[in-house]
Amino acid sequence: MRCCSCVLLLTSNILQKLVSMYKSIILFSFIITAIHSFAQKNADSLLLKNYKPVSIYKTPTANIQRASFPVIDMHSHDYVATKNDVDDLVKLMDKMNVKKTMILTYTTGKGFDSAVEKYSKYPSRFELFCGFDYTGYGTPGWQKHAVDELERCYKKGAKGVGELGDKGEGELYSKPTPGKGLHIDDPQMKPLLEKCAALHMPISIHVAEDEWMYENPDSTNDGMMNAATWHVNMSKPNKLGHDALQKSLENAVRENPETIFIACHLLNACANLQQLGDLLDKYPNLYADIAARYGEIAPVPRYAAAFITKYQDRFVYGTDNDPDEHMYLTTFRILETADEHFYEPNTFNYHWALYGLDLPKEVLEKLYRKNAEKIMNYK
Ligand SMILES: [Zn+2]
Repeated sequence: MRCCSCVLLLTSNILQKLVSMYKSIILFSFIITAIHSFAQKNADSLLLKNYKPVSIYKTPTANIQRASFPVIDMHSHDYVATKNDVDDLVKLMDKMNVKKTMILTYTTGKGFDSAVEKYSKYPSRFELFCGFDYTGYGTPGWQKHAVDELERCYKKGAKGVGELGDKGEGELYSKPTPGKGLHIDDPQMKPLLEKCAALHMPISIHVAEDEWMYENPDSTNDGMMNAATWHVNMSKPNKLGHDALQKSLENAVRENPETIFIACHLLNACANLQQLGDLLDKYPNLYADIAARYGEIAPVPRYAAAFITKYQDRFVYGTDNDPDEHMYLTTFRILETADEHFYEPNTFNYHWALYGLDLPKEVLEKLYRKNAEKIMNYK
């Protein structure tokens, strides 16, 4: 039997332990609340432009090192400054399995001639496209000068024309003289488009932008932040919108069946690829490049792969971006692999997760090279 003082001592010890436990619980919940409110505050103040998620999924990745077939890049530009830079570019192309690159110079005159000179050491690795010279357009007889300049560039080595570019206000890309107000289906363009057919010079042409860029850059825009960077301001009078620009290209393609057109960037129809499919169904002289639209098709890999497979004879590979190893490997990863849920926010400026299209090998080979060889009439 315990004495009274022992019982009291025991009770006091239990009480002390209970108080100490209570204090620990209070402290613990305070810390949890503090962490939670810090996390919440962080989430509340995080800007979308700073959101650069890193996938935590431990899924198999292909770790691609180069293209699995030799590649013809049908959409690049004159990014390098010197002949030494051209040497380095050829080394990079060798490493990446890119056997040839089309340099869309969109220039005429001296600008085109100096580009020819810069790449002249590697005639089998580069081919150059020239622009149209719109000097004096709108005045009688200007097309003769433009056609003469096209022929001169052809004799200098131009293998095609491009990149032409119309974002609603006319042909803006050609240097040194753009054709503001002239759309590709303008009757004034007809002699130039016919001459391209006669010389077998395919026309690489960019019309419009993708639909995200026409939407308000607000909290509902599926394509933010890239949509904000490339937002199209439609407030100017007489400016052609997305569908009207596609229609202008369709008119030119239909009215010039002997001329080959390559619609850049999947016709900027990535949000509704069937718009492009409808034109491919109707016009055998139309092709499309997939340059700089990898970020737009990788969020819908099954649909995009089925679409590219359906029209597998009509697409060509292109990059459009400053050539470096990561850029090339990202395009190959998206086309070739079944990698899932990876991010490239710095490359594409979207916050989307991306997925490889896992294209069948025969489709890949056509996209990488065979369709380009057909368009360019290589043996
Ligand atoms: Zn381009």
